[in-house]
Amino acid sequence: MTEPDARPGPAARRALLDAIGLLVPADCVGCGAVDRAVCGRCRAVLLGASPQFVERPGLNAWAALRYEGPAARAIGAYKDGGRTDAAGPLSEALGGAIAAALHGLPPGTIEVCTVPSTSAAMRARGYAPVELLLSRCGIRSANVLRLTRAHEDQAGLGAAARRVNAEGALEARRPLAGRRFLLVDDVLTTGSTLVEARRALAVAGGSVAAVAVLAETPLRRTAHTAVSRETLRDNLTRGGYGGRTGVVDPPFQTRVTRR
Ligand SMILES: [Zn+2]
Repeated sequence: MTEPDARPGPAARRALLDAIGLLVPADCVGCGAVDRAVCGRCRAVLLGASPQFVERPGLNAWAALRYEGPAARAIGAYKDGGRTDAAGPLSEALGGAIAAALHGLPPGTIEVCTVPSTSAAMRARGYAPVELLLSRCGIRSANVLRLTRAHEDQAGLGAAARRVNAEGALEARRPLAGRRFLLVDDVLTTGSTLVEARRALAVAGGSVAAVAVLAETPLRRTAHTAVSRETLRDNLTRGGYGGRTGVVDPPFQTRVTRR
């Protein structure tokens, strides 16, 4: 005799989740609608896009999302608004970029490497955003890099300043001869942080086989995105944006610059 399958089907599961949404209402991290942590429409945005191959000076990467619209708001709320309840669809999106990055690589062991957070960022957030998403994908990163000095937060700096700021900021904890890595990060802007991570791995004898990021910031906007994660966090500390829900509505959403 077979056990009856007690797992609810998709429709029943949606109904159950909606019931939870009624019991414990949350504001959607993508659009602010009172719903679940990520409403159906924003979930479709996060999960509906195919990973894109994106290029930066000296660096190529697979990006799950473009850092704009509901995706940008969801990532901002997840990273800097404490909205870890949005980790599910974001981790699914990141998993898609990781799969795309790994596809077609020559066989052999590849380890996942992330960029370590500053201790100040860890204190402010209480969690490492990328590590948390990776753990939801069943991936644990190799803890091989560390910061050589507390370098100023990259957000809000221009491309040249970012490169100068990033150079020498990371070092390997130990020799890495022969080890291959998939570099994973959350938001790719100019790519300088990941270039620095690759440099630090190479100095220790390691190599980067591919790069995957959750989202890429379209470059044409970076000259105008003077807002920084620090600014968002400061605002959060003051309760200045998103109110109790922590939903982020970064100012750069209001300004789209086209070439
Ligand atoms: Zn939404």
